[in-house]
Amino acid sequence: MNDRKDIKPVFLEADKCNGCVSCMKRCPTEAIRVRDGKAAVMYERCVGCGECVNVCPTGAKRESYDKLESIAGYKYKVALPSPSLYGQFNNLTDTSYVLNGLKALGFDDVFEVAYGAELVSAATKKYLENPNTVRPVISSACSAVTNLILMRYEHLIPHLSPMKQPEVVAAKLALIEAQKRTGYARAEIGIFVITQCAAKVSKLKRGNSAKYIDRVLSNRELYFLLLDKMNKLENPEPLSKAGSLGISWGSSTGEAMGLGTENYLSADGIENVIRVLNELEHDKLTGLDFLELYACPSGCVGGSMNIENPFLARTRLRRLRKRYAPRKVEIGTASEFMRSEAYEPLNVYRLDDDRLKAMKMTMKMKAIYEKLPQTDCGACGAPRCMALAEDIVKGHDVKCKYRKGEELYDDG
Ligand code: SF4
Ligand code: SF4
Repeated sequence: MNDRKDIKPVFLEADKCNGCVSCMKRCPTEAIRVRDGKAAVMYERCVGCGECVNVCPTGAKRESYDKLESIAGYKYKVALPSPSLYGQFNNLTDTSYVLNGLKALGFDDVFEVAYGAELVSAATKKYLENPNTVRPVISSACSAVTNLILMRYEHLIPHLSPMKQPEVVAAKLALIEAQKRTGYARAEIGIFVITQCAAKVSKLKRGNSAKYIDRVLSNRELYFLLLDKMNKLENPEPLSKAGSLGISWGSSTGEAMGLGTENYLSADGIENVIRVLNELEHDKLTGLDFLELYACPSGCVGGSMNIENPFLARTRLRRLRKRYAPRKVEIGTASEFMRSEAYEPLNVYRLDDDRLKAMKMTMKMKAIYEKLPQTDCGACGAPRCMALAEDIVKGHDVKCKYRKGEELYDDG
């Protein structure tokens, strides 16, 4: 079983938590339990969707992004803004304002994630030309969706796009450029992705991505600082390299639009994503080439580390991209943009690796469930009565009147 306990896209400020259970009820993977009046995350089940942050009324749930001060530890610092950042600013007519603003904040250089996204689009287009590709290809751009598939939809893993994430593609190019320009050693160069997404905070700093990415900062934290710098800019240096298609990646349908096919489905919002994946799993979606799925409403502009209303940010991106032509992107083969690590299922819902033991646990769970009120009220600190039954069977420290499984189930 994969150990995902080191992945912490979100964390709890315990003194702010009043145990209201809102986050627990909202979590799409049942990763939260409220124990002793505080909401604890079972990190191996957390996909990083950020829903718990969005619904928490007291601000107790937070994303684990790095602070801007972390750039001070590097001799040469490169900022990689995500396309969603552009959608945060009202009346933005030129992405160079944002890019110059980042330099004014202390970065030595900038490299747009949108530029990496255009390369990923070109590679995906080639991948779709191969008749042996398993269809529909599911975009791997949204880390929360990828995590969800690895956790709950093992049979759909062959559909997951093998492409690297645009942030990783951009970071590798940015690092090569910085090394050429400065001659500095890798440890002296800091590559900073600026994102909207709790899932990416943890994903981008692990595995092969960590070779190129040092820190992951938040759109929300940088927004006001940037606004101040941007307001003082008079003649911004033309720094934009990405075209309209790369900018479009910041909101839903943006990636699919760059693939040259109408035969795609785009869905956003975690409930809609789950519905689409359930239908695909049950062979109800046929004849499609590509599925673009985003856990957040309207795509990345809906990420929890944004400032702006996602629907307004999407409108702004739509206006902004009209000011840019599509960039002509030439690539060699699709394989140079593919991940070197294979996707592995995350068997986090398996009760036990021993099948016989797991079957017995399932029977016990069902028997306990039969004796519970079955109202899914959440008052016990578990999201559903079945989740409580599972916790009891697994021997978790359940503090409710049903805590003693043996009172509910006689396995003799
Ligand atoms: S939503 Fe969750 S983290 Fe926020 S106060 Fe309620 S129980 Fe605590
Ligand atoms: S980030 Fe999403 S999956 Fe993780 S605990 Fe919060 S709601 Fe659940």
